[in-house]
Amino acid sequence: MYYNISFDIAAILILIVLAVGMNTVLYTDTHGHKLVCTYIYSVLLVSVLDMITAYTICYGNMVPDALNLILNTLYQYSSILCVAVAMRTILNYYPSSGRNSMIINRSILLLLTAIVTLNLFTGWMFRFENGEYIHNKLYYISYVLLLVIVFHTLYVVLKNRSDRPATISRIIILFLFLPTIFTVIQMIFKNILLIAFGEAFSALIMLFALETPDYRKLMKTMNELEIAREEANNANMSKSDFLASMSHEIRTPINGILGMNTMILRDSEDPRIIEYAENIRLSGNTLLSIINDILDLTKIESGKMELVPDNYDLFSIMNDCYQMNRMRATDKGLAFTIENDPDMPSEYFGDEVRIRQIMNNLISNGIKYTHKGSVKMKIGFKENGEIQNADTEEYGTLIISVIDTGIGIKKEDLGSLFKSFGRLEQSRNRNIEGTGLGLHITHELVYMMKGTINVESEYNTGSAFTVTIPQKIVNRTPVGAFDLRLNEHVNIVTGIAGSFKAPGKRILVVDDVKVNILVFKGLLKGTELTIDSATSGPEALEMSANTKYDIIFMDHLMPKMDGIETFHKIRDNENNINRNTPVVVLTANAIVGMKSTYLEEGFTEYISKPVDQKELLTVTEKLLDQVL
Ligand code: ADP
Repeated sequence: MYYNISFDIAAILILIVLAVGMNTVLYTDTHGHKLVCTYIYSVLLVSVLDMITAYTICYGNMVPDALNLILNTLYQYSSILCVAVAMRTILNYYPSSGRNSMIINRSILLLLTAIVTLNLFTGWMFRFENGEYIHNKLYYISYVLLLVIVFHTLYVVLKNRSDRPATISRIIILFLFLPTIFTVIQMIFKNILLIAFGEAFSALIMLFALETPDYRKLMKTMNELEIAREEANNANMSKSDFLASMSHEIRTPINGILGMNTMILRDSEDPRIIEYAENIRLSGNTLLSIINDILDLTKIESGKMELVPDNYDLFSIMNDCYQMNRMRATDKGLAFTIENDPDMPSEYFGDEVRIRQIMNNLISNGIKYTHKGSVKMKIGFKENGEIQNADTEEYGTLIISVIDTGIGIKKEDLGSLFKSFGRLEQSRNRNIEGTGLGLHITHELVYMMKGTINVESEYNTGSAFTVTIPQKIVNRTPVGAFDLRLNEHVNIVTGIAGSFKAPGKRILVVDDVKVNILVFKGLLKGTELTIDSATSGPEALEMSANTKYDIIFMDHLMPKMDGIETFHKIRDNENNINRNTPVVVLTANAIVGMKSTYLEEGFTEYISKPVDQKELLTVTEKLLDQVL
């Protein structure tokens, strides 16, 4: 029989290159490296013996039978050794594969070694007679047993694949199957010797894909990165959770303090008490705005800050900013004015809340960092003529400038003002309250609206912050001059708060904290509403089963049965007379996306704590109107 040994020669050449490489440029002193080296040497041995036996079998008549038998037995031993090392190398990648899988492989290999040894005396597998190579019944036993090992190892790899990234497992499966596939091809073509080549080829893949030092370093770094990423994610999650609960824990008592304080301010006539209460109000509001800033920052950092665009009236924003800041400016003896282009459009489409927040941040900074002179907000509008859709959708740019005559900012600090949050000149500004979050948040909000923010400043002379925000025009009617309209507006709103009255209407407020109920009732005093209260979910269910209410105000977090569960029990009970009553959720849980979560639950409205009297009155009046 004639054998084609060209693939054996190719295998030997590949293996020599690999062996040299492994001992020089690719050398590392690791267990994995040693195993791959041993594998390469054992395949080299298989290839050489394969070639030699190919010749001795071919020229059987010139070689003694005993020598042929010994050489072929040695070939069988080298194959067994090669498989043993290969399986060991593979299982080395799966530390949790356990001792059992190693023991199973070893037992099969020992059995095979015993059969091959016995064959020397019995000829059960093969023998030589007068130079002729005779296969016996057990000839294929070595193939069968080696296949069992391959499949068993495959099973172990698949079972423990979570130990390694998917790419590594795939390469290892390839390493396992390449020699098997070459063996099958050899069994079909019989006289082409392919097995050793398959083994050399798989060693090549294994080495360059898994065992080169660079690749291993890369894998190690990737593993470390993965672990670091998980840790960072967990830390971020706990930060968000912490902030959510902190927000709730702090807002709940502030609700009580500010609410009670509102009542003191309203009912007290003693100027000293009013002064104390006013101080409580100021500090409470500052505390609240710090919490709101921290919440905004987490929303921005976690990518959960969403803009909620809607139609809005520019005058009402300017008016809010004016009302919110004028007292503080007056207290400091500063002139505070808002100027605008009277011909600019009056209504736009955008996120009113965030635009107001940007303006307020800049104005309150102006007031904080100005000791004498003035703070001025100028608002203008530039048409960009970019008509997107016929004449209905027109776009332009809102230009907001806040100019002060304050302490100014040094040139070297201007560059980093918006990027990193921090406070400048801590020693000079020691007495000015602040967290260093405001400008960073402002910058992020402007950026989200695809706008720009710039600052020009002269140290000790003053600063000018300019924000531009692209906005869609909704109503082109000129807004008019702010100061002229302000006078008219003051006349209209005076006396509105507390002026709506609804005698005969009945509402229910549910809150486990009694002081909150007191505050709530105080805020609606003067509306002549009948206000019932419940301090738990079950009590609320009982009351709502017996009395028809026009609105139910429900706290979310309550022990045992929370607001959401109570709400669903009322809504889902077909016999409940309040099944269709509007239910407003009152909650200190002002974290990311909560409003939409509550509305999706089915609540009619959402009011965050501390409850703002104006908001409560507006919502109550609106819902009562709808009930009529
Ligand atoms: P803070 O809460 O400290 O006011 P901000 O983020 O709003 O934080 O501002 C960051 C820093 O920028 C401030 O600490 C202050 O040093 C400086 N700054 C902001 N606005 C002005 C201004 N109008 N004039 C002078 N310095 C300002």
